[in-house]
Amino acid sequence: MRITDVQTFHLTAKLDKPFAWSLRWTDTRSAVLVKITTDEGIVGWGEAGSSGAPAIATVITSQYRPLLLGRDPFDVEIIWEELYALTRDAGQKGTAIDAISGVDIALWDIIGKAVGKPIHKLLGGCARSRVTVYATGLYYYDQDPRAVAARVEEACHYREQGYRAMKMKIGGLSIADDLFHVRAIRDAIGPDVPLMVDANHGYNAYTAIRIGRRLEELDVLWLEEPVVPEDLDGYLRVKSALDLAIAGGECEYTRFGFLPLVERRAVDIVQPDLGRVGGLSEAKKIASLANAAQIACIPHVWGTGIIVAAALQLIATLPNCPPVRNPQSIWHEPVLEFDRTPNPLRGRVAPEPELDAEGAIAVPPGPGLGIEVDEDAVRHFGREVIW
Ligand SMILES: [Mg+2]
Repeated sequence: MRITDVQTFHLTAKLDKPFAWSLRWTDTRSAVLVKITTDEGIVGWGEAGSSGAPAIATVITSQYRPLLLGRDPFDVEIIWEELYALTRDAGQKGTAIDAISGVDIALWDIIGKAVGKPIHKLLGGCARSRVTVYATGLYYYDQDPRAVAARVEEACHYREQGYRAMKMKIGGLSIADDLFHVRAIRDAIGPDVPLMVDANHGYNAYTAIRIGRRLEELDVLWLEEPVVPEDLDGYLRVKSALDLAIAGGECEYTRFGFLPLVERRAVDIVQPDLGRVGGLSEAKKIASLANAAQIACIPHVWGTGIIVAAALQLIATLPNCPPVRNPQSIWHEPVLEFDRTPNPLRGRVAPEPELDAEGAIAVPPGPGLGIEVDEDAVRHFGREVIW
């Protein structure tokens, strides 16, 4: 089998209402998708980067496409190394690796379709056919720092819909106001629903420790990205000062980037983003690296149904950490981050998976990613990027 074409699409969709996290407001969702075609008529789809920056598409079409044409998709990890070696001198992180990620996911989709198996069967097998999810939402929608009613209502809505855990944003307000919001949501959802918080590296170490001590009193399960990803010593300082779990890694790239995080035990949970770290090939390696240090791997997921499907395929293969007789979600079993914020692209590019009565989602059993990408929707929201 040979690759005959590599196309990229940049998709955008305006939101009715903007929302914010610790860093900024947004009124747009966007994505970069990759479509790879073969001489056997098999087509694979991937999603590149979670920023949706059009430069990612340009890297694929200008630099990677000429190297991919004529290649055998089954050489996926050899191709990964070649593309990485090509761009290593440009910095080992960022746009070039976002771009590799989308290509890698599309190649695995092709391989799965060629052999008639879902990707997880090719990456080691099925540890679980259903994955418990947690709702990611509870962003800031209001400029008023004391306006908490809408967030409380959103949290109650998730609980009523059957989500077994949820994550909210912090770092966008003063410590006092953020704690007021966390307390209001904790009171509303009760003590039995695991609640996580995500600062999107909005603190320095001493501020993260200060709020972290109060978050422990509110039984927050994990504090995500307390400090900037470059500040490894800051992570270590926060982690040694607090008893709640520290999660991080969604802004990190490749196994080389995750190695110091794992070796120095800077986090309790690594969160590789499959569209960013280098795709399925690299996320699997990062999960193994983390497992060797008994650090849990719970991927970061932010994008269309393509990246959701890719994450499900990976999570299906991950061993419980540690393996026990009666594994508990999050504590032992990896879970899926299920983005519930407004995104007109998400359910249109590929159908939204459905939550079952146990708060879980089925791993797509079909070949490859196990989803049908709606190319009409792709073209409706996007344009093909020809550099
Ligand atoms: Mg995050």
